[in-house]
Amino acid sequence: MNTISLIIGLVKYEPGWEIILEQIGVSWKVIESYGTPLAHRYSVIIHNTALDNVQAKALRQFLADGGTIVSVFGRSEQLLSMKSRTTFFDFLPPFQLDYAATSDILDVYSFGNIFTAEHSISLHQAGNGIIINIPFDVHTLLIQTKRKRKNFFFSTQRLPNEVVSAVSKNQLRELIAAVLEYLHHWRGLPFIHKWYFPSDYPTIFTFRIDTDKGNQEEIEGLFQLSEAYHIPTTWFLDVKSHEHWLTYFQKFTNQEIGIHCYEHTTYDLVERNRKNFEKGCQLLKENFLTYYGVGAPRGDWNSALGIAFEQLQFLYSSEFSYDYDNLPSYPWLNDHFSSVVQLPVHPICSGTLRRAGYTAAQQLAYFITLINKKIALREPICLYHHPTHHYNNVFELIFKYIQDQKIPMLSYREYAEWWNKRRKSIHEMTYNKDSQKIYVIGTNDTVWHRITTPQRKETIVVFNGEVHLESLSWNPVHQATTIPSDIMRARKFDFRHPLIDLFEFYYRLKQ
Ligand SMILES: [Zn+2]
Repeated sequence: MNTISLIIGLVKYEPGWEIILEQIGVSWKVIESYGTPLAHRYSVIIHNTALDNVQAKALRQFLADGGTIVSVFGRSEQLLSMKSRTTFFDFLPPFQLDYAATSDILDVYSFGNIFTAEHSISLHQAGNGIIINIPFDVHTLLIQTKRKRKNFFFSTQRLPNEVVSAVSKNQLRELIAAVLEYLHHWRGLPFIHKWYFPSDYPTIFTFRIDTDKGNQEEIEGLFQLSEAYHIPTTWFLDVKSHEHWLTYFQKFTNQEIGIHCYEHTTYDLVERNRKNFEKGCQLLKENFLTYYGVGAPRGDWNSALGIAFEQLQFLYSSEFSYDYDNLPSYPWLNDHFSSVVQLPVHPICSGTLRRAGYTAAQQLAYFITLINKKIALREPICLYHHPTHHYNNVFELIFKYIQDQKIPMLSYREYAEWWNKRRKSIHEMTYNKDSQKIYVIGTNDTVWHRITTPQRKETIVVFNGEVHLESLSWNPVHQATTIPSDIMRARKFDFRHPLIDLFEFYYRLKQ
């Protein structure tokens, strides 16, 4: 009786939950039957809809048996016999509670239901178990594609800004991962998820260039720099600008070619988007340039772009108005998941920093601070640049730093192919509390897993059938990063934002 399936049960299927659970890399399934006790069949339950009588009874029993639940949008009213209060949230400041943590501001811009005035995210005892209430409808936040101009924090008075996904999906993922981990440990269970990188790499580095009107001399400078430091740079070509000298790119054999656009714009119609990218792709083919993916102009993303990308059979795309600073995911296109994997980038580039008045030294400090934060958070380091922005000396020092830290470097194609492989690797795991053994069905030697224990130890391993926890070598669980005390400056009203938005609106109209 002490064997428990390490599977997260979802009361109702929702694509947003699939996105986040797959990013974290946990085993999950929709609960199909409530007839037999749930406590041994599910390690944690996600309560994301109103319950019928049978479900409510089964979840109460689950709690009585010491089960743990994450409940969203005040749904746990039903289990707690408490009333929640609806309130609108722009964002939550970063927090490091025992049971929930984020490393940065969690932007939501949506309604949420809370139980206590002091804590938006709350923990409740129920039966012999616990419920953690997340105020927001996680699914809806994950599939929405609203964009917003945001400041990005640094120690300078004036902050760089960019139009990015309104919801900070990365912080939402951090929050859900922390909550699921806590709820496993609370039950005395190990928390296991697929590792975020190939092998047991601590992180990865990718570098991308959008060639935006860059001339041959500017592009050659960055090409030589990438060659000198063995950086597998991915180049998103602004094809129209290079239309008459595309053969020049044929020597980019150690680097990767992708498409940025033909006309440097995007549309709300699938057909217009498809034609624009198709024209660019056709010219690349005519010049014997092999491409794999796309990064749309200005980081734009909408479902008309998503569908066009799928029709053109790109392997990957990368747009920060869809998602930024996060692990990859597959966008939901109204009724199915895109086959084109989204590879988020850090949305602030050298040009943005220059507009915020940054000197070269400040730019370098910004990027090194970012890289160190990404290493600490175990997030991919994905930077981008433009040939016309120059500051190549800053990037030379960044490349040196990446090499000194021995961070593995991937092209976008390599990253996308590996993530597709990670998605397909499926393990069913059970845990026996007496023997402290994990039994694993379905093995894949290439995808590693991270295991953490209630004793706050962790290890990153490749599974092979049966794993005895005692036989593994353990490290203390990785500590969270420190949050700057004045980080909320980044969400203070910035008079520049409406002015820039207005200027860019007119600029687009004139195009
Ligand atoms: Zn561009």
